Amino acid sequence: DVDHVYEALLNTSMDLDSLEPDSLLTEEWIKETVKKSGMKYKWAKLSESKVREDKDVERQPPPDPAVLVSRPPVVTIMGHVDHGKTTLLDSLRKTQVAASEAGGITQHIGAFLVQLPSGEKITFLDTPGHAAFSAMRARGALVTDIVILVVAADDGVMKQTVESIQHAQKAKVPIIVAVNKCDKFEADPARVKRELLVHGVVCEELGGDVQAVHVSALKGENLLELAEATAALAELLELKGDPKGLVEGTVIESHTNKGKGPITSAIIQRGTLKRGCVLVAGKAWAKVRFLFDENGLAMNEAGPSVVVEIAGWKELPSAGDEILEVESEQRAREVVEWREYVEEQEKEKQDQQVIQAKQQEHLESYRKDREALAHLTWYQRRRVRYKTEKHLMAMRPSDMDGSLEAILDILETYDADEQCQLDVVHFGVGDISENDLNLAETFSGTVYGFNVKASRPILQSAGKRGIPVKLHNVIYKLFNDLKDELSSRLPPTL
Ligand code: GDP
Repeated sequence: DVDHVYEALLNTSMDLDSLEPDSLLTEEWIKETVKKSGMKYKWAKLSESKVREDKDVERQPPPDPAVLVSRPPVVTIMGHVDHGKTTLLDSLRKTQVAASEAGGITQHIGAFLVQLPSGEKITFLDTPGHAAFSAMRARGALVTDIVILVVAADDGVMKQTVESIQHAQKAKVPIIVAVNKCDKFEADPARVKRELLVHGVVCEELGGDVQAVHVSALKGENLLELAEATAALAELLELKGDPKGLVEGTVIESHTNKGKGPITSAIIQRGTLKRGCVLVAGKAWAKVRFLFDENGLAMNEAGPSVVVEIAGWKELPSAGDEILEVESEQRAREVVEWREYVEEQEKEKQDQQVIQAKQQEHLESYRKDREALAHLTWYQRRRVRYKTEKHLMAMRPSDMDGSLEAILDILETYDADEQCQLDVVHFGVGDISENDLNLAETFSGTVYGFNVKASRPILQSAGKRGIPVKLHNVIYKLFNDLKDELSSRLPPTL
């Protein structure tokens, strides 16, 4: 049963792979916990753990199998470019427009529902191609139950056909093959099936269990057969949803509508969405004002596998964002705030890494320069350094030609000392900058300014980071200061 619990945990949004190795939520920890708790799922324990100190939405336990009801399959159409994905979606949609009494202005809301004469329903996501599919996958959202793989019978298996197969296989989503363009004279469905064999897609005709339906998306031929094959596979999959728990779903599309404000199309995966529900998705939240179906008609509620347009968002969430219901608006704000905080931390960490890499790079080239300079006289060296601007103390005199030259000349005299060398890592004209601080920090150096200023934020930043910043207006004081600094760094005499 441990595996079962682990599986359940994996199904939550917790990204177990990304956790620190010393985090409490390791696989061992989970197994340990489950064992200790006598096989009872201790969800409460999760909230005590390190990762759950956060204010994000608490995960609800998996639903009680008794409350589950059947739900329609959610289908994504994939395949190589120009093999007819868009045409197929259009034709499938048309079968419904003709059938529906509203008959007409179907809106593009990212998905549509097809109802078979037998009453079975299928939800088609109409953002074709694996880009959308993998974008959602990347966010851990698997909204697709079945992939319809479109292969043009006059072209056969192509690069993106293979990629689509790999995406589906990786996500363990079963495939139905739509052998398209069968109206064409050159069509060779048998060849398509042979080619698919190589990629592990074994059609029924070749002794496998993958259904292949010969269609013409353009002429609308055999679409009912395709839909029936899909419904049959769905029945085998025994797709179930929990209409009771808190709402969970995934954003399929989002845009701002002039009249309705920020709008998302979303697929509901758990619970039943109603007006007034409070939702969070990514860093956006909503108090649901209206629900619309693909015909633009208002809906009262939307259960598992239903695609619905949601109005009431304060900001736009992104496609692929997970939608979760929370108990109150206040809680929604708290969750969003927490997520913003986490993101900021993440960004800061990344910035820090970039800075460190830059500093490392600088240090490397500085070392190389030093080696290259070793055989030159100080005078030559200074010239070269002057050009390459690689030095060990950040220096900021007020003007480049006069005082800088003078300072460098005098510094020359210190260079003879073998026990402690003075290096100017960088010099430049103008007020002390953040870059000077970064360099000084990298080299544990001191920032000297002559006849220049340092702004209050710079001084505060330097103070926080423990970087000495010394400003002088009188040149001999600057040198005395430098001398002191150098002596303080001399090895202690016995
Ligand atoms: P997608 O890139 O996969 O979405 O492909 P499209 O749906 O845009 O179709 C590419 C081209 O193939 C278009 O010119 C379609 O008219 C054509 N096409 C699509 N399905 C069929 C079909 O069943 N028969 C024929 N003859 N042409 C088709």
